[in-house]
Amino acid sequence: MPAMPLLAEPPPWNPSDRAPATPEALGRSVLGHAIALHGARRANVLLIGGVHGDESEGIFLAHLLLQEGCGVPVLPCLNPDGAFLRQRWNARNVDLNRNLPAPDWKPEALNPRYPPGAAPASEPETQAFLAALARVQPAAVLSLHSYKETFVEIERRPDSMAPAFNQAIEAFVGAVGIERRLSIGYPTPGALGAYGLRHGLLILTYELLRGTPHGELQRIVAPLQRLLRALDAERFVP
Ligand SMILES: [Zn+2]
Repeated sequence: MPAMPLLAEPPPWNPSDRAPATPEALGRSVLGHAIALHGARRANVLLIGGVHGDESEGIFLAHLLLQEGCGVPVLPCLNPDGAFLRQRWNARNVDLNRNLPAPDWKPEALNPRYPPGAAPASEPETQAFLAALARVQPAAVLSLHSYKETFVEIERRPDSMAPAFNQAIEAFVGAVGIERRLSIGYPTPGALGAYGLRHGLLILTYELLRGTPHGELQRIVAPLQRLLRALDAERFVP
């Protein structure tokens, strides 16, 4: 597929072999936008984008993977209201990555930027994500975000994981030219990482570089397809 030179140019569409299956409804956002799971099936890995609405890089990349095909279930945009409003939070100004029913969820925001909501899983978007987990029953989740620098955060030490997973992750970070980290470096109560540790899920948080032109994300598609295939081939066991 040729590079996409213009932001305004829609990705080429080949309905003959790349049309995604009809998405399954997981729920609706606060403002009533549908939240959908594409390629719904039981799988070892679930790909998710758009937890934070202003991180359009991950939303776009998830849609590129849907278009190109990646063989695993994809929830391309968990926070459609935030994407619509161009803000991090959902329409009730809750940070969905602090609203998960993780053991470290706290009612008070550690930082005004990260409001956790009234209760764990108080938000319909969080409930939609939990519905996706129930539907797919994954052992791994790859969540696409964007930040001031690029890296993959995995809150597990490499020596605590099976070689197949480490090899797939190392191949990916090598191909894309990014770093693997154990933590983003500050506390994130109620976030997906802590939820995953409690529930035996392998959580990969891929922070793309904030502000990357969407057309440049095409180069990440093939390495990400390989990573997802590898994560789906063998079930992660904590
Ligand atoms: Zn984010």
